[in-house]
Amino acid sequence: MERTIEQEKERKRKIHRKWHRRNRVSERLRRKANYLKEKAKREDLKQKIALENIGNCTCCGEDNIKFLRLHPTEPNPILCYNCYWANRVYGICPHEVVKKEGVYYGMPEM
Ligand SMILES: [Zn+2]
Ligand SMILES: [Zn+2]
Repeated sequence: MERTIEQEKERKRKIHRKWHRRNRVSERLRRKANYLKEKAKREDLKQKIALENIGNCTCCGEDNIKFLRLHPTEPNPILCYNCYWANRVYGICPHEVVKKEGVYYGMPEM
């Protein structure tokens, strides 16, 4: 079957419209991704400012903010990664053991 010029034009228009519609969706996704990225950046900045103000790990005193992390829901809201994970894994940080016992004999029995 042969297409008339009109039909051909209509076909191209349809393809064009389809492309546009698809592009609109991806544009929306791109904007959303961007928004999330900006939001994450803002959160990061908020954290950075808080950490700079409070300063150091409440457990070991680590003051390099690259090691620090805010844990708003934990009893010690600012811990370095080491102390945070020790708390998570052992339930207590080795630093705390030293503070309690005066010496470090190893982790208490679990
Ligand atoms: Zn620490
Ligand atoms: Zn610690």
